[in-house]
Amino acid sequence: MSLVVMKFGGTSVEDPAAIQRTAAIVAGRVAMGKSPVVVVSALAKVTDQLLRAAAAAANGDRTGALAISSRLRARHRDTACELAKNPVESSALIDLIDKRFDALDEVLRGLSAILELTPRISDLIVSYGERISSHIVAAAFRELGMNAVRVDAREVIITDSEFQKAAPKDDIIEKRAPERLLPLVREGKVPVLGGFIASNEAGLTTTLGRGGSDFTGALVGGALNAETIEIWTDVDGIMTADPRVCPDALRVKVISFEEAAELAYFGAKVLHPATILPAVKKNIPVLVLNSRNAACEGTRIISVAPHCKSPFKSIAVKKKLSIIDIVASRMLMTHGYLSKVFAIFDKHRCPVDMVSTSEVSVSLTVDSNSSLPEIAADLSTLADVTYEGKKALVCMVGEDIRGQNGIAAQVFNAIRHINVRMISQGASEINMSFMIDEDDADEAVRSLHAAFFKDPDPVVFDVEA
Ligand code: ADP
Ligand code: ASP
Ligand code: MG
Repeated sequence: MSLVVMKFGGTSVEDPAAIQRTAAIVAGRVAMGKSPVVVVSALAKVTDQLLRAAAAAANGDRTGALAISSRLRARHRDTACELAKNPVESSALIDLIDKRFDALDEVLRGLSAILELTPRISDLIVSYGERISSHIVAAAFRELGMNAVRVDAREVIITDSEFQKAAPKDDIIEKRAPERLLPLVREGKVPVLGGFIASNEAGLTTTLGRGGSDFTGALVGGALNAETIEIWTDVDGIMTADPRVCPDALRVKVISFEEAAELAYFGAKVLHPATILPAVKKNIPVLVLNSRNAACEGTRIISVAPHCKSPFKSIAVKKKLSIIDIVASRMLMTHGYLSKVFAIFDKHRCPVDMVSTSEVSVSLTVDSNSSLPEIAADLSTLADVTYEGKKALVCMVGEDIRGQNGIAAQVFNAIRHINVRMISQGASEINMSFMIDEDDADEAVRSLHAAFFKDPDPVVFDVEA
């Protein structure tokens, strides 16, 4: 059995035409003798709108929240009607959509009375996106003659109870996924699961964090020992930079697990940062492909990538960061100081991205978040603290920077007109990162791209395009 996990993002299921393209791509894999297991996101933008409805309800704006829900209901109903032509299928699907939206409206009404949006309720509300999209996509697949069955991802992906960014329980998933999915696959069926959503061991709905459907795809692929994991999105693959920022970006044909993980961690939205881990564990190749241009070969992510003449493969940017500067003359020569600093970040469950130290000061970067004033207040018991938001981390990734001389000089020469606040190199040996003002980030990416990708290695980059 040649099992392939195919994950389709929001834009690949945004409307009836996109869902039909997706159905044709999956049918193509079946025709090739492959056994697909499909993971789908919510329809494009639905997650954002559900979060907006939740926020409105929690602010007491019951009418506003219900209006968003009502627009979403109409969009899902219209999509379903256009796709499911068979009258029995169509009326069952519309009925299901109405029942789910009735339940969602109940939650929104309750929330507008209670006025407290907990992470647990947020996950429940947002889960409707994938819970419903998976039904619509499965119906569209059946319409095209595939024997598709919708499977509730919450029976397969079990996590801890850290709502909004739950961590998977690998041992349970390793058991559940084959038990629930393989019998269907053996019967020639195509299972369709919603990505992103999961449940804790008590059966409460959790989510894997924004963009988490990629992670679901990889978890399912890992647990089923799939031949490949395919991430279908709206660009030709992993590019040398975000094509929205840098129109000259080139497709990276092949990249290593390590490089792709580093790019995802440092902000390349094309992959959720945890996606690569399950694939690495089982050495399963991950392909990033374009559902609007299925003929394109995309990007192949594998354990060992070929040698590349260019030092870097891609440039990632993480925005909405803050720099915290901690200055204390007392810390001179003391030990245990940094552990006290980190204990404070730990207490606030705030991950630190970059650290740089001198004799009397430490600078750290974190995601801009609402606990920053409290973190600063706690830190001020140790030292003088200042913090500043609207920062961006630019991260240049490539295995072939190892051992090359003069790369840093070339990087900083390319952005010599931009003020650099912090620099880090060497943590992983395959990336060079620096912190700048968010407003300078796009310009920095374009300048670096022009400097480093003017003569790209055709073994690794698509130079034809
Ligand atoms: P999906 O809904 O399919 O998960 P996303 O919007 O999450 O899609 O991710 C795809 C987007 O990621 C692209 O449209 C692109 O703008 C952005 N992106 C950022 N960095 C890169 C990169 N290095 N290569 C390709 N796309 C990137
Ligand atoms: N729908 C979720 C989100 O928008 C998960 C995903 O699409 O990967 O974050
Ligand atoms: Mg995504």
